[in-house]
Amino acid sequence: MTERIFNFSAGPATLPESVLLQAQRDLFSLPGVGMSILEVSHRSAAFETVIQEAEADLRALLAIPDNYKVLFLQGGASLQFSMVPMNILPSGQSADYILTGSWGQGAVKEARKLGAVREAATTAATNFNRLPSSNEIHLDPQAAYLHFTSNETIFGVEFQNEPVAGEVPLVCDMSSNFLSRPVDVAKYGLIYAGAQKNAGPAGATIVIIREDLLARIPGGLPSMLDYGVLAKNGSMYNTPPCFSIYICGLVFKWLRNEIGGLEKIFQLNQEKAGVLYEAIDASEGYYRGHAEKDCRSLMNVTFRLPSEDLEKQFIKEATAAGLDGLKGHRSVGGLRASIYNAFPKAGVERLARFMAEFKSR
Ligand SMILES: *Cc1c(COP(=O)(O)O)cnc(C)c1O
Repeated sequence: MTERIFNFSAGPATLPESVLLQAQRDLFSLPGVGMSILEVSHRSAAFETVIQEAEADLRALLAIPDNYKVLFLQGGASLQFSMVPMNILPSGQSADYILTGSWGQGAVKEARKLGAVREAATTAATNFNRLPSSNEIHLDPQAAYLHFTSNETIFGVEFQNEPVAGEVPLVCDMSSNFLSRPVDVAKYGLIYAGAQKNAGPAGATIVIIREDLLARIPGGLPSMLDYGVLAKNGSMYNTPPCFSIYICGLVFKWLRNEIGGLEKIFQLNQEKAGVLYEAIDASEGYYRGHAEKDCRSLMNVTFRLPSEDLEKQFIKEATAAGLDGLKGHRSVGGLRASIYNAFPKAGVERLARFMAEFKSR
């Protein structure tokens, strides 16, 4: 099978075709190097170039100010659930968490093991189908930081703007909408994202941290969990996930050179998601979106059918028609179409047509 199908998986997820083709072409021997990216030393000049270009392209895409460090780490976004409080939640202080879904719950669960934590807001009562309004968010002005999840991958709710945190540093799990829209990095103390949703393949985790927060890191942390040690060593205290960083670098170049930057990808993402939400809204209640309209995610479109049997049938027939990975997470049920940056517009158009056909049948 050499044909590609439409892959709606929530992550690892679709990568840009040009990136896959370039990686394939250069896998045997990196041009000018004579070795595969899988073989080169991370201390070599060749890899130095790869990681430096990846960082430079990421800085350019997000216009990351100079007083922020960019790290390429391992352990996934899940390890950041622990590393964030280990590093920047000093004992005697407490951290605020806004809970808008399972990933935020995961983050607060780990933070609780390490320090004092408050829930500043939660939308659990309505199974995370919306975002809290600003008067539902009860902030502690003394908090060490305010953590939120910009896009809840499982429920399909996405913040349109950052919560207002005042002087409290904002910390964001941006795993599933990283680089999907412009972001003013200067509003954040720390951003983290597992690569495998929108930035590249599994294996790398990107952390962007404001330098002044490094001063909070307590002594005695294990070196591999200490942002200061990792930053001082240019993400190479130990062997980094070389291949994953290389592919992330190609994705950043694709975003800059082929797409034309984050404003452009944001526009494309709005168009793509618009096609699916339109299909849901035009179905006279046959398809029901999980998220309230003003909280809808551009990345993960979650919806239900009139019955679980119909959902099963839909998924089976869609899969047979080359529309793969549509089964929703068990905590929401129904369907989820994950349509990150690299997911082609033709795929959402195909799914929208399939939805209309399925309904009429
Ligand atoms: C996927 C995901 C995670 C978990 O990422 P891992 O890299 O598997 O640890 C955390 N947060 C969000 C928002 C995610 O989408």
